[in-house]
Amino acid sequence: MAATSSSVMLLRNFSTVGRIAQSVRSNSRIFSTTGELIRALPRIASQRTISSTRAAHNEEAAAKSASDTGAPTIFDKIIAKEIPSDIVYEDESVLAFKDINPQAPVHVLVIPKLRDGLTTLGKAEPRHVEVLGQLLHASKIVAEKEGIVDGFRVVINNGAEGCQSVYHLHLHVLGGRQMKWPPG
Ligand code: 5GP
Repeated sequence: MAATSSSVMLLRNFSTVGRIAQSVRSNSRIFSTTGELIRALPRIASQRTISSTRAAHNEEAAAKSASDTGAPTIFDKIIAKEIPSDIVYEDESVLAFKDINPQAPVHVLVIPKLRDGLTTLGKAEPRHVEVLGQLLHASKIVAEKEGIVDGFRVVINNGAEGCQSVYHLHLHVLGGRQMKWPPG
């Protein structure tokens, strides 16, 4: 009985049936009955918490070890197509590609092709207004292309405390699941 009521609580905490299905799929076993699935939910939820905590710590560690030196970054190699990326959208000024370590079913990075001093948003100057607008507009195009335009989030991490690890301005376009607030 106690297990059943905690399972019901967990079911309430999963915001959509889709998220449950996603969690079940990521667990390799197939559940043959609903009862079996409900009994497994506490374990699935705990695995999700552990993996999202690990991801958060990795991001923080990467951000703490990075610094804004103005040196070229991995994104220069992606722009030059020296290393592969999964490109979602591209125009003269902007490149959008899938994040290598996605934090949501849709996680795309939108970057200016020409950094022009924009290692961080905090370095923005009046001359950057046009490209900043282009980046936001490209984020909306990405959301449309990825089928999440009715619900998505755009994030810019700024500096070490903002959890920035790559010093080439980039917008994270995230979606495909219910976002939480505050973001943590
Ligand atoms: P930040 O932490 O600076 O806001 O975000 C940097 C993002 O770049 C991270 O989400 C990280 O996963 C992503 N990233 C780092 N290196 C690569 C790479 O080589 N390819 C791709 N596609 N994404 C990367």
